[in-house]
Amino acid sequence: MVSDPKDGSIRSLLQKGENSLLEAGIEESREETLRILEVLGISRTSVYLGGERKVSEEEERRFLKIVGERMTRRPLAYILGETCFREETLWVNEHCLIPRPETEILVEKVIAAIREKRRIFCKSPAGKNGRMGSGDNLIRKFSFLDIGTGTGAIAISLLRTFSNAEGTLLDISREAIEVARRNVQKYGLEGRARLIPGDFFKLSQGPAESDTPRFVFDVIVSNPPYLSELDLQNIQPELKYEPREALDGGKDGLHFYRRLIPLAKGRLRAGGLLALEVGAGQSGMVSKWLQDAGYDSIHRFEDYLGIERVVTAWNDKRN
Ligand code: SAM
Ligand code: GLN
Repeated sequence: MVSDPKDGSIRSLLQKGENSLLEAGIEESREETLRILEVLGISRTSVYLGGERKVSEEEERRFLKIVGERMTRRPLAYILGETCFREETLWVNEHCLIPRPETEILVEKVIAAIREKRRIFCKSPAGKNGRMGSGDNLIRKFSFLDIGTGTGAIAISLLRTFSNAEGTLLDISREAIEVARRNVQKYGLEGRARLIPGDFFKLSQGPAESDTPRFVFDVIVSNPPYLSELDLQNIQPELKYEPREALDGGKDGLHFYRRLIPLAKGRLRAGGLLALEVGAGQSGMVSKWLQDAGYDSIHRFEDYLGIERVVTAWNDKRN
């Protein structure tokens, strides 16, 4: 049924929002309109089951304000101040990248790798009866570093999955670290999260054990900036609102991997895991550098579009 866009009903708002966003060139216009309604307290169920209900003037005013702002192509997550990542709803602002669905794959692969190789994180490889336990709780305490944490999305997901994990959340942007701090607090993870504003390349120089004894980890994970100069010239309007330092991977987009891969090895314990998100077409070069740096068991994983998006590697030898 086509409703009159001016009849003041939920259905007419949906139609109006969808049309306006579509006009502004936004592909997922229906999904985003539903999300805006949801944030205003109008659930998806009530859209479908009670679409005839009239909205208040105040609801309509707030709805139109958000739609109008979104038409400028400012990302919805920044307008709403929050975004969803796996099972979490995270605070977000213009100082940090909006976590992407691809990064959920990175987190899933890290979780799977830790579970698979949990002997490495166990105090004793076998239980009393000689068998390994199956729960995550049998794994000893382990530490991880999230380089370029942004909202803290990756780290928060890992901390919520492994109650025996301790995370270091590092970002060059002080403002991003403050957003990550709010998210850590939101989920009550302060006791297991260390937040550091700083540059990984500066912090990781010098001998691993002497200067900063706690800057050595069982797991290092990162979704570094990886867009090339050319990518940055062709980005969609929304990306212009995101911090450049979260996206810019240098001329060929590989700048971070080149430096991070050898440096991270010196910051990983023997038996530790390095897991990286990579851009389209970058997994081959990244795997080669991992091999050259002496990592073992290098694996690549595809995203939902069949693009190799995650590379994992183990540091089986002593540094
Ligand atoms: N981890 C978040 C996620 O996946 O949603 C954000 C990833 S974003 C692509 C990269 C992040 O790295 C940005 O937050 C940026 O500020 C940070 N960054 C850039 N250079 C850095 C450096 N040298 N040391 C630490 N963090 C850095
Ligand atoms: N996945 C982001 C994009 O293509 C880029 C994030 C990054 O540089 N790590 O929009």
